Amino acid sequence: MSCDSSAMPIGLLLSGGLDSCILLGHLLQRGHRVQPFYIRSGLLWQAAELPAAEQFARAVASPELAKLVILDLPLGDLYEGHWSLTGRKVPDALSTDEAVYLPGRNALLVIKTALWCRMHGIDELALGVLKSNPFSDATSGFFDRFESALACALGGRVRIVRPFEHLNKQEVMELGRDLPLELTFSCIAPVDGRHCGQCNKCAERHAALKFVHEKDPTEYAWKVSA
Ligand SMILES: [Zn+2]
Repeated sequence: MSCDSSAMPIGLLLSGGLDSCILLGHLLQRGHRVQPFYIRSGLLWQAAELPAAEQFARAVASPELAKLVILDLPLGDLYEGHWSLTGRKVPDALSTDEAVYLPGRNALLVIKTALWCRMHGIDELALGVLKSNPFSDATSGFFDRFESALACALGGRVRIVRPFEHLNKQEVMELGRDLPLELTFSCIAPVDGRHCGQCNKCAERHAALKFVHEKDPTEYAWKVSA
């Protein structure tokens, strides 16, 4: 990745969660110009997550940070009946991380964003994928092949970069410890816009924030399960 601030921005998929928000702060701290994207798919947590992404972006705003671009990719027809839409049987704090897998998620997130980047002359797209990500669509093999296939489809290459791919959660949290992490949003079963405290992602968030803060600043709807 180039750090020349006069260079074309790097694209960034910004979900509003801890990892992508810390990656935004990290890229800005390293002098990158950043073009963030949010993919609006209509999933259960979007109404709380999108404002969090916008709020975090405002909090770290700088001349190097472009306005958040929101791309619509509705998945209601495809994920019909899935817990990510219905809120039924949402993976709880005792579930494995594999339980929160969303079919085709990274391919779906990348394809429209990469096309936007290509159409606007941006040749790098960053994702906040960590070393510990357990999913088959978060491996180097997947991204290398997907990037090559996209180059055929787009008539030019958009590099998919994962600056955190060799870091675990604790290391990422250390990088982001001075960022306004209380503004991020992680829950997959929000209650009136708040973190539920009961789901798989709330448990992960609580543990992650405890790495860097004595007290987790999140206001949970119910006592957090961890
Ligand atoms: Zn939750």
